[in-house]
Amino acid sequence: MSTLPVRVRFAPSPTGYLHVGGARTALFNWLYARNRGGKFILRIEDTDEARNTPEAMAAIFDGLRWLGLDWDEGPEIGGERGPYFQSQRKSIYDDYLARLTAAGRTYEDGGAVRFKFSRQPINVPDLVCGDVQFAATEEPDMTVRRPDGSYIFHFCNVVDDIEMGITHVIRGEDHLSNTWKHTDLFHAFGKHPPRYAHIPLILNPSGSKMSKRDEGAAVSSYIQDGYLPDAVFNYLCLLGWTPRAEKEKLDRAALITLFEVSDVHSANARFDMEKLKWFNAQYLREMSPDELLAAATPFLKTAGISTDASFAAAALQSVKEKVSLLTEFPGWVHFFFREDFPFEADAVTKLKSKPENKVLLEAAAAHFSTFADWSEHGIHKAIEEVAALQSVKPGVLMPLLRFALSGQTRGPGVTTIANLAGK
Ligand code: GLU
Repeated sequence: MSTLPVRVRFAPSPTGYLHVGGARTALFNWLYARNRGGKFILRIEDTDEARNTPEAMAAIFDGLRWLGLDWDEGPEIGGERGPYFQSQRKSIYDDYLARLTAAGRTYEDGGAVRFKFSRQPINVPDLVCGDVQFAATEEPDMTVRRPDGSYIFHFCNVVDDIEMGITHVIRGEDHLSNTWKHTDLFHAFGKHPPRYAHIPLILNPSGSKMSKRDEGAAVSSYIQDGYLPDAVFNYLCLLGWTPRAEKEKLDRAALITLFEVSDVHSANARFDMEKLKWFNAQYLREMSPDELLAAATPFLKTAGISTDASFAAAALQSVKEKVSLLTEFPGWVHFFFREDFPFEADAVTKLKSKPENKVLLEAAAAHFSTFADWSEHGIHKAIEEVAALQSVKPGVLMPLLRFALSGQTRGPGVTTIANLAGK
């Protein structure tokens, strides 16, 4: 028996934002397609016309692109099984409804069209949840077309999966309870249902289902808050899946190779923002100076800082060990880029209360002006000399000088700052 080439899809309904659970569903589908050399299809389930706004679509496309989840067929790129918006597929649904009617599986009821359930027990084999048995239903037959001519979700979803040749349906566990309806429809059309994999929900730290209001629910919030796509990608993979590897921090190529849908857990996954932040910090640390400059520049611009200076990349590098999010950079490096940076007020009061600080700073300024070697090493030597002349430890002088140059009691060392800022 030859196995069909894998075709999976992400089928979001536009709601105005891309939920982190949806993004993780898309990600697992994408990993599966890439692992199997198959196709990842994007289909927009936009039958609710009120929600069909360009903004709602953009939230989906932008979020997927930011995460690097490129689709092989779908909106904006097309494909052989389009259109990829349900709102443009009505004639296909009409055609499929006619087939159901010809098979004697529909009837009219007050202007609506209902699908006659088979009323047999239905088994749904699931790659994550195992075999799920549904007893013969006692529910009323399902409306598939409303009196206004529009089709309901279950009908469009199944017709599209047939028409688009979907081999595996990987989606949120919230759809498992309806899958018997889908299976019944597949059989009524004379088709084998695809393989199902219902993946666990993502819970917020308090254990309830993550809702729109929860921190981190929208993918756009990661973009705004200074997360790196590679870190979010890696972290989302771990929500419900434990890769068979020694470590959790894994790059895309490794995650593609390791992904196995049957390794996804059936227990719900809990979202942990601190862990995501930790991942982000690790990914930041690995970036080259140029990569970091490119990633941080928009955040510095927003803070009114231009990164044109030749030392900008080095300035960012000098603080990257202290930073977890791109949004934190302006607060650490602003003094490199402006003359009128503010001084921490408490520290000013404290330092001014000791007159010897003024003497030390003046001595350092005088000594530095005669000093030719402005390498980090040279600066260090100059500081040691001033300290010796003033009979203090270099460790006393250094934080004082750093404060004078940056207005901050934390940050890179004074030799780094002085060297980068130039004599
Ligand atoms: N439009 C459905 C949703 O967003 C898709 C369900 C499915 O993947 O089959 O939940």
